[in-house]
Amino acid sequence: MSAAATPAIDAVAYRARQRAWLAENLPPHWRADAVDYRPPSLDEAKAWEATLHREGFWGIAWPRDYGGHGLTLREHLISNQEIGRLPMPESQNSIGKELAGPIILAIATEEQKRRYLPAILEMREIWCQGFSEPEAGSDLAGLRTRATRDGAAWRINGQKVWTSGAHRAQRCLLLARTGTMEERHKGLSLFALKLDQPGVTVRPLRQITGDAEYCEVFFDNALVEPEDALGEPAKGWAAAVRVLEVERGTNRMYRGWRFEEQLRHLVTTCRADPALARLLEDSSIRQRIAQVQVDIEVLKRLVEQTVEVLVGGGSIGGHGSLSKQHWSEAHQRFAALAVELLEQAPYPASPEVEAAQRRFRKAYLQSRAQTIYAGTTEIQLGIIADRILKLPRGEAR
Ligand SMILES: Cc1cc2nc3c(=O)[nH]c(=O)nc-3n(C[C@H](O)[C@H](O)[C@H](O)COP(=O)(O)OP(=O)(O)OC[C@H]3O[C@@H](n4cnc5c(N)ncnc54)[C@H](O)[C@@H]3O)c2cc1C
Repeated sequence: MSAAATPAIDAVAYRARQRAWLAENLPPHWRADAVDYRPPSLDEAKAWEATLHREGFWGIAWPRDYGGHGLTLREHLISNQEIGRLPMPESQNSIGKELAGPIILAIATEEQKRRYLPAILEMREIWCQGFSEPEAGSDLAGLRTRATRDGAAWRINGQKVWTSGAHRAQRCLLLARTGTMEERHKGLSLFALKLDQPGVTVRPLRQITGDAEYCEVFFDNALVEPEDALGEPAKGWAAAVRVLEVERGTNRMYRGWRFEEQLRHLVTTCRADPALARLLEDSSIRQRIAQVQVDIEVLKRLVEQTVEVLVGGGSIGGHGSLSKQHWSEAHQRFAALAVELLEQAPYPASPEVEAAQRRFRKAYLQSRAQTIYAGTTEIQLGIIADRILKLPRGEAR
């Protein structure tokens, strides 16, 4: 996302406009707290997100030349705060908008920017992220999917796993090996692979929630045309590290405000039910709820600090790991508490309690993966120790 100089805009009026538009236009049954909740279909979500973009909620800090709104990360943050305040559907193309977009802006050619970026914002192309493999997750530099030259083009062979949303995506931000295994991270390159072609097989994995959001992706001589190679060959590692920093630091900036909205939903639901309201009087429960609020405040401040650093021309670096480690651990604690409380409602529960149970059971199951994806907690702690604290490395005990 660009932090280039743009005319200052009235933040209060901007926020009021974003808030009013969402209040008027978000369909009530798409709200995750609704008793008659019904999530949008993929086609509905695509149309909704394209409208959100036209109304100024996506591509906020991207240059106008590429379909963006030419503002700054400050307005991006304000919009995210307003999105977080409401129980809105998650983006079906957050990888395109929040991971692929920023790296395309940073390293792609002018022609590539004009081709890829408007298609992402208009929801004509959904992207997925093809980094992890069965034997290469935390140790990403050990990946084996190979890209070999075929004239000016590339042929891809290998397998990715845990590729979120690959079953609905048109493009894959693919990290593949163009050098030898011994070269480790020095032999990697980044590609914008088209998924709809004969050499690609996408196999969704069924999860504990019942959804199948994550996929295995197999490449059997899949083709990457020369115009879909991103950045310089063998410079893929530096680009991948930038993608991961963005993923940990600024991706889904609304999280802290959404967690706060979830907390309001939980407390309101409990207050309205006599049995659950009695639980709120318990001092240990009150303390755990207060701790959730503290966690949320810390997360919001971390995000706001990151935005100020970026607007001031700084980089995220290892600091994204502070946010990632904090929000994932905090949300796991919160979701576990919510389920513990709501499951104590007497049967039959009211429609409002049932709606909250449905929402928080899913949030609880999803939260189990949050300390794994975008890099595990142990990896974030290692980055904080190495890159922020610069602690010496000793012998493993
Ligand atoms: C729900 C979900 C969605 C995902 N979406 C995507 C996606 O869209 N695209 C994509 O490319 N990947 C995706 N991933 C993959 C994710 O990035 C990896 O699962 C993650 O990096 C961990 O890798 P791994 O699963 O191979 O575990 P491993 O790396 O094998 O780790 C196993 C355990 O060992 C620990 N460990 C490993 N190395 C160290 C170390 N050096 N120090 C201390 N502890 C260590 C880990 O913390 C972990 O507890 C997703 C994963 C999940 C669960």
